[in-house]
Amino acid sequence: MALIVQKYGGSSVADAEKIKSIARRIAAARDEGNQVVVVVSAMGDTTDELINLAYQIDSCPSDRELDVLLSTGEIVSSTLLAMALKTLGYAAISLSGAQAGIRTDAAHSRARILGIDPGRVVRELEKGKIVIVAGFQGITDEMDITTLGRGGSDTTAVALAVSLGAGVCQIYTDVDGIYTADPRLVPEARSLDEMGYEEMLELATYGARVMHPRAVELGEIYKVPILVASSFTDSSGTLIHGGASMEIRNKVTGIAHDPNVAKITVVGVPDRPGIASSIFEPLAKADISVDTIVQNASIHNITDLTFTVAKSDLDRAMEVVRPIAGSINARQCASDSKLGKVSIIGTGMQNTPGYAARMFSALSEQGINIQLITTSEIRITCIIDEARVEEAVRALHKAFELEQAE
Ligand code: ADP
Ligand code: ASP
Ligand code: MG
Repeated sequence: MALIVQKYGGSSVADAEKIKSIARRIAAARDEGNQVVVVVSAMGDTTDELINLAYQIDSCPSDRELDVLLSTGEIVSSTLLAMALKTLGYAAISLSGAQAGIRTDAAHSRARILGIDPGRVVRELEKGKIVIVAGFQGITDEMDITTLGRGGSDTTAVALAVSLGAGVCQIYTDVDGIYTADPRLVPEARSLDEMGYEEMLELATYGARVMHPRAVELGEIYKVPILVASSFTDSSGTLIHGGASMEIRNKVTGIAHDPNVAKITVVGVPDRPGIASSIFEPLAKADISVDTIVQNASIHNITDLTFTVAKSDLDRAMEVVRPIAGSINARQCASDSKLGKVSIIGTGMQNTPGYAARMFSALSEQGINIQLITTSEIRITCIIDEARVEEAVRALHKAFELEQAE
C-alpha cells in the first residue's frame, strides 16, 4: 500500500461545493489502495480577511495572537473536508499542525519546522483513516501556535511527505502545473511536464508563488518528488524532481516576477573594511532579509552602497540604516519603494553566453530602464520600475520564445 501526501490550496477549498469535489478526488486516491494524508490551506481569501480583521482592531497586532488567529483558517477547512469525506462513507480525521506533531521555532509569522513527530498521523493511518492536516501551522516547545509564512501549506505538505517517507508529494492548485511564466500575465505561457528542483527553487524564490520556496528546498534535500497539478482538471501536471536538469537544454525554462521590491541607497560611503558589515549586521539582527546588494567602484575612496528589501520591510530597514549612515559619515540615505524584479531562469543558461544581452535588449526595446542586475549560475534578475514588471514579463517570454514547445 503506497502512502501519498496531497495538498489543496485556498482556491481549491474556497466553498462547500469545492470541498465536496476535493473529497471525491481524495476518495478516489484512497480507492486506488493508497494511504492518504491531505494538507489543506484556508478557504479562499480567509487568511487575508483574518489579517484585515486583526488590523481593524489593532494597528500593530501581537505576532503571537496573529498566528493563533491565522491558524484558525486552516482548522476550518480541515474539519469541513473531514466531514465531506465522512458523508462519502470514508473514515477521516482532521488534525491541527500541533496534533500532527509539527514542531517549529518561535519565529512567529515565519516559523521554521524543526521536526515532525509523526506518531499520531501514523496511528490514524493504521486505523484506516484518511488524515487531513491543517497546513501553514506548527507548535513551539512552549506550546505556542506558529505559522510558516504566506503560502506555507506547501511546506507543511512536503515536510510531512519527508517525515512519513511518502513516495511523492502532490500539490493541487488552480493551475495545471508550473508554467513558463505566470499564466495570469502571459496567456501564451506553457505548462511544463517536468522541472529540476534547482530551477523551481529559483522560480519560487524570485516570485512564482505557485510553490513556497522552502517546500522546494525540502523536496530537494530529501529527494521527494513534487507533482504540481490542477485540483479541477485531470491534466498530468508538472513533476519537480532531481533528474530533470541532467539534460542541459540550451534554453531559458521560465520567467519569474515579483512586484514587491524596495531599494535603499547609502550615498557617499567611505570605502574601507568593516563598512558593509556595520550596515548589514544590524539589518540581520533586526531580521530583515536583504536581497540584491550592489557596491559601486569607489572614486577617491568614496562609494555608494545599494541594496533591496521587501517593501513591507522598508520602513524598519530605513530606521536601522539611517543612524548608521550618519555615524559612518555617509552623505545621504535614499529609498525607492516602487520597484519590482523580473528574472529569467534555466539550467540551460549555465556557462552559455548571450542570455544577459538578449534579456537587456528585450527590455530596452520596450523602453524599460534596468536599475540593478543580479545573477546566479542559472538566473538573471533585473530590478525595474514596478509599473513595468508585467510588460517586462511578456516581452521576455516572447524574446526567449517560451511559447514554443521544445
Ligand atoms: P494555492 O492557493 O493553490 O496555494 P497560489 O495562489 O499560491 O495557489 O499559487 C497558484 C498561482 O500561482 C496561480 O494561480 C498563478 O497565477 C501563480 N503563478 C505564478 N507563477 C506561476 C508559474 N510559473 N506557473 C504556474 N502558476 C504561477
Ligand atoms: N493560508 C495561508 C496563506 O494564505 C497558507 C497557504 O495558503 O499556504 O498564505
Ligand atoms: Mg500557494
